[in-house]
Amino acid sequence: MQNKLCWQGAWLRGKGFTVNCPGGHEGCTANLPVHAPLSEYDMAKSIGTELALQNVLIKYATTDGDGRSAAGIEDSLKILHPMCSVERLADPSHLAATQFRHCYNAKFSDEMFPGKTRLDKGKVKKILSQDVKARCSLIMTTCTLFENHCGNTEEMRKCLPKVLESTIRCYDGDCSKSKCRSHSVVCPGGITNNWWNRSMYLASNKVDSLNMNENNKSILSEILKIRISEAALEKNKFQTNTQKCEAINRSLSVSLPKNVNYGRNAMGRLSSTILRSNGGIKNATEQKAKLLGAPLSPKTRYSLRQTTLYRITAIVNKQDIQMQAIAIHPPFALILV
Ligand SMILES: [Zn+2]
Ligand SMILES: [Zn+2]
Repeated sequence: MQNKLCWQGAWLRGKGFTVNCPGGHEGCTANLPVHAPLSEYDMAKSIGTELALQNVLIKYATTDGDGRSAAGIEDSLKILHPMCSVERLADPSHLAATQFRHCYNAKFSDEMFPGKTRLDKGKVKKILSQDVKARCSLIMTTCTLFENHCGNTEEMRKCLPKVLESTIRCYDGDCSKSKCRSHSVVCPGGITNNWWNRSMYLASNKVDSLNMNENNKSILSEILKIRISEAALEKNKFQTNTQKCEAINRSLSVSLPKNVNYGRNAMGRLSSTILRSNGGIKNATEQKAKLLGAPLSPKTRYSLRQTTLYRITAIVNKQDIQMQAIAIHPPFALILV
């Protein structure tokens, strides 16, 4: 863990002693100078070094768009294994968020969206951005294109240009000419059963047409290419994502909130959370109490077990609801999930 805080050093400096952290005095808790940046690159480098020493080589690393973690891992592995290279894969959730932002900030012409005022048009633009994001997720990541070709990326690559073209035409309002049924993957075409009527964003907000000129179409095409293109497919070929990292991040922020500085016991709180995430509340509490020399009473153990059971039941029930939703409305529930 990278730590810049040292209460003891600060106290000594306040008393007039000249001490430098890290390492300038006994019991220093800091391991970084105060002005050093906290970098993902350095963190990935130290993880990479640990793995390289155990002869574990990494070929693919899935990261969010802004970090340089993959480069950090590669640089550390190259010290011991010069031929090793790490390929960075993209996380679909971050890519989807980027696509939404691009679409929402794109400079489409004013006459493209229905509505009388600028506010009305802005609302439709937001709806379109959400719809584009959901539609691309459905095509690329959720299941459809992968299922149709059993995950064969060569086959998928061949049909991507047709999917892109028919998607743009579908947004232009022409489902029959764009051959939605055979190429668009998610729009069955037709008059009552097309994407415009089935989409949870467009249909529920009663958006039924867009007045696109050539310029708007090319902007939309660039936005769709963020996810429907060979480059995007290559970055997402194993369908990997960083959801588990985000979940761990969320559970760590419960015991280590950003607005509180735990200069002395941050490492302890971190280890405690890791123990709880790995073993569950019951096992973690039991283990900690036992090591402290105060084993839990049978009554406390029973109530802890009940808490764990309740949590598991809640998760199972939630999954049941999602499964039922998929069974009733396939395209919409998949977007929701
Ligand atoms: Zn110190
Ligand atoms: Zn269509």
